[in-house]
Amino acid sequence: MRGVVEAVKGSLVAKVFIICFLAIHLPLIALMFYLGLGRPADPVPILVVALLATLLGAVLSYLAVFQLVSPIDRLVSAMDRYQTEGIEPFVDVKGTDGVKRLADKILDLVRSQEKSLSVLRRQANSDPLTGLGNRRWLQNAVSIEINRAARRSQWVWVIAFDLDRFKEINDRYGHAAGDEVLMIIAEATQRQLRPYDLIARIGGEEFCVVSTDDSDDFGLKAAERIRSAIEAWRPRLGNDTITITASFGVHKGDPVLQSFSEMLRLADENLYQAKAKGRNQVVGLQR
Ligand code: GH3
Ligand code: MG
Ligand code: MG
Repeated sequence: MRGVVEAVKGSLVAKVFIICFLAIHLPLIALMFYLGLGRPADPVPILVVALLATLLGAVLSYLAVFQLVSPIDRLVSAMDRYQTEGIEPFVDVKGTDGVKRLADKILDLVRSQEKSLSVLRRQANSDPLTGLGNRRWLQNAVSIEINRAARRSQWVWVIAFDLDRFKEINDRYGHAAGDEVLMIIAEATQRQLRPYDLIARIGGEEFCVVSTDDSDDFGLKAAERIRSAIEAWRPRLGNDTITITASFGVHKGDPVLQSFSEMLRLADENLYQAKAKGRNQVVGLQR
């Protein structure tokens, strides 16, 4: 008996069948009950009883079917909101029948799709070697910084730097050693900055820092700190203790007048100057 009850609970078809069966037979049951009470078998009261039982059956079956399938409507609304506004669907469906199983499957599918999307988003925005953000991440993150700097009348400092003669390090000590150097330089750079400054690896051995500040030399000083930290590091590669250096281009950007790509272009031009002037230096000509 218990097995039959469980089977009915788990089957939408069985539930709908039972509702229809009871609704159809309600007038008959009502009549049998009416006559069983020994009431007169006149046609008028019999018709009234049958009509009332039919109406009651219709209302009850409507409510019961509505109760069974309303989670589908809630699921459709939740999926609409997910599609148009990106709000992850949450629909609480009780029971074990086909509606519940369908809802669980759809919600599971959405959840696992969201999980994979967030992994992909993270991969698309970060550099797996150093753990820093990449160029795409920086371009997205920087717009908030630029708006904030405009509201607070601050400068947007853009520091672009590129390791000097890095190809030689790879050639002499191997690509893995080069990778190690890049990781350590990323960490060393972060240590010279405030937690809320943005730092990204925007090319093979090129990094970019974006900081907002109101002082007139913040970016130049920050670049100089990073430059001397890299130079002072003196890593041991193979049997050698070497010095690694980097060249820096700094630009003091005006958040109201300049776009980020313009600021980065000007910082890059200064970086090019630093390379041309002999490397291992900071150039921050103002334009
Ligand atoms: P310059 O001072 O003019 O910048 O010289 P450079 O040798 O640093 O510049 P170049 O552009 O000639 O070479 C860059 C090198 O950076 C070449 C490439 O092998 C290396 N590189 C780029 N990305 C990676 C990376 O992810 N790992 C390692 N190990 N090396 C990389
Ligand atoms: Mg280089
Ligand atoms: Mg380069």
